[in-house]
Amino acid sequence: MLAAVSQVTVVSVKADLGVAPEARVAPKKATAGPRRPLAPAAELVALNRRESFTLRPGPQGGFGKQTMHALARFLRCHHTQRVHAISERLARLLYETAAHFDYHPLEVVAGYRAPRVAKQKGNPRSPHKRGVACDFRVAGVGNEVVRDYVRHFPRVGVGFYPNSGFVHLDVRDGASAFWVDYSAPGERAKYSPTPEEDVRRFAQEPDTQPEGDDPPSAEDPGVIAPNLPALVPITPREE
Ligand SMILES: [Zn+2]
Repeated sequence: MLAAVSQVTVVSVKADLGVAPEARVAPKKATAGPRRPLAPAAELVALNRRESFTLRPGPQGGFGKQTMHALARFLRCHHTQRVHAISERLARLLYETAAHFDYHPLEVVAGYRAPRVAKQKGNPRSPHKRGVACDFRVAGVGNEVVRDYVRHFPRVGVGFYPNSGFVHLDVRDGASAFWVDYSAPGERAKYSPTPEEDVRRFAQEPDTQPEGDDPPSAEDPGVIAPNLPALVPITPREE
């Protein structure tokens, strides 16, 4: 307070000395606090379009209208180009996920999906058609690790797609859900009847090919579609 008063005094003295009237207005910046540093940006890359998007929260931590509009455009249905509003909570969780993994880019397989596309894909009630879901992976991070991380969020649906190379995340009002879908890209869903058991079983398998261990089980066809960018092995990004 004292500083502000003395400043006013100085201004009035200057005015008496013939300083131009506009100089009497004390500059606002002099009393404003230090600027908050910008939050780091999360980078989203659309694998189907080779487009990228920078997601950065505003000074208050949330995402403004403009950001949400731009995000909706980025996460548009890549089959129909249709744009639909995206849930802000989903945006926050995507950002938190990127932050958790040291801002490695999120490689997005699908965001919004037009209703007819959702239907064609065999799920007419897909949360993708409401703009509350995203299929993605994190560059340089195993999908099991991403899966286990996003399962910590409250009120989410998490789908694990070991043969398609991504994790599904949606935000919902009710209890969280988890499923494993063994379909390969372009195939209809092949849901596991025992997702939790599958996760435990896979967790016991070491990352590297074990010696003398059994190959993947029969229900895991191990199908890798070589022509899909989503299945190109991930190399960690160096900053
Ligand atoms: Zn999905």
